Amino acid sequence: MSWSFETDPDFQERLDWIDTFTREEIEPLDLVFRGPGDPWDPESPAAKAMEPLKKIVKEKRLWACHIGPELGGEGYGQVKLGLMNEILGRSRFGPSVFGCQAPDSGNAEILAHFGTPEQKAKYLQPLLDGKIASCYSMTEPQAGADPAEFTCTAVRDGDEWVINGEKWFASHARFSEFLLVMVVTNPHVPIHEGASIILVEKGTPGMEILRNSAVGPYVEQGDGVHGYIRFSDCRVPAENLLGEEGKGFLVAQTRLGGGRVHHAMRSVGKLKKAMDMMCERALSRTTKGELLSQKQFTQEKIADSYTQIMQYRLHVLYTAWLIDKHKEYNREVRKEIAAIKAATPRVLQDVVYRAMHLHGSLGMSDEIPLMYMWADIPELGVVDGPTEVHKVTVARTVLRDYEAAPGLFPTYHTPTQRAKALEKYGHYLQEND
Ligand SMILES: Cc1cc2nc3c(=O)[nH]c(=O)nc-3n(C[C@H](O)[C@H](O)[C@H](O)COP(=O)(O)OP(=O)(O)OC[C@H]3O[C@@H](n4cnc5c(N)ncnc54)[C@H](O)[C@@H]3O)c2cc1C
Repeated sequence: MSWSFETDPDFQERLDWIDTFTREEIEPLDLVFRGPGDPWDPESPAAKAMEPLKKIVKEKRLWACHIGPELGGEGYGQVKLGLMNEILGRSRFGPSVFGCQAPDSGNAEILAHFGTPEQKAKYLQPLLDGKIASCYSMTEPQAGADPAEFTCTAVRDGDEWVINGEKWFASHARFSEFLLVMVVTNPHVPIHEGASIILVEKGTPGMEILRNSAVGPYVEQGDGVHGYIRFSDCRVPAENLLGEEGKGFLVAQTRLGGGRVHHAMRSVGKLKKAMDMMCERALSRTTKGELLSQKQFTQEKIADSYTQIMQYRLHVLYTAWLIDKHKEYNREVRKEIAAIKAATPRVLQDVVYRAMHLHGSLGMSDEIPLMYMWADIPELGVVDGPTEVHKVTVARTVLRDYEAAPGLFPTYHTPTQRAKALEKYGHYLQEND
């Protein structure tokens, strides 16, 4: 029997170090470097500020812990990664300083599995070292949640692929050394058998970034990091196809499952940060002769937030534990990943809103970080697929374990069940008569 909610003391020591390091050395970066691409852009001034911090993390052997030892990482399981990521989620810069930032972490896994030795030498090592950025480009302007609507194609011509079409919201494209692009290579079969992933190097003729969109209203138009890209007869070598032709979604699975769990783990960190602020404020502000914390409406906010965070955190860690147990993204694992993915925006919306509301005007001002957290919430409902799609996955998987009632009335129909129960235990009633 093992069903433990405890962290090994050795690892707890490491977590404590990560916590102090994040609060003291990383969180201040958020106050200085506010550009939309700062945590990921190797040309940003923030990259220089992160350099000595990355060095310390590497020395502590906490760099890129999701990567196996064969590639220089620590090969941590998802439970350990979960406990780490919930601390790193406190800062936009946390994942970059620890070498586990999206989309580079997932792209590195794809390259490690499917790249040629030349591609690995050119891109994988610098990516793992945190020296270059990369992009994963799947969404199109006319289609995101439904890949069957994708129209960006690649056609084989001799020893090259020729790409034509458009991509949308390709995060970090403008400062990435390479893009992994999902393209339709066979339009005559269902998309899950006809899409492939192709590596496109920065500056390849025929690839043009039309503009860069930003999330949120406070970024200068065009300064965002999400590229709207057009491919016009863009030619790449045949070996840039990663994995088998038509198996693009199988290749993509290498990154998406883990990526979604890590988003959720980092959300736990944000939730705890909002909760910390809410509790400190409740104990500090007096109104109508008593502290906010003494008012039952405030206590309800704190109790509800605590309970929601606790439930969410345990679900995230349970999912991580399940991945470690099965060592694959089987149906059971995918159900839980979809469930926590769908739960993420709601729990953040509830908790961050309560924290903001409790701070009154200060809560929505630019003088505390809650408004930044608030502005990030909607993206968690669409990035890596909209909430509805994940709920459909959960519901379908749950329903697989059930069958329709065999007769007119449900199997739990009380009169029928009571008749059976009376057959079993009814004689005790008669004995008492
Ligand atoms: C910050 C951010 C970063 C991103 N980075 C990347 C990236 O790096 N690479 C990349 O390829 N993409 C990226 N995306 C795009 C993201 O993957 C898409 O936004 C997502 O897949 C949804 O696609 P869409 O935006 O086209 O919305 P749509 O597909 O148009 O969906 C819009 C809405 O329609 C409804 N809907 C859709 N499908 C269903 C359904 N089956 N049932 C019921 N309702 C439905 C939902 O309400 C949904 O929110 C990013 C998005 C954001 C916000």
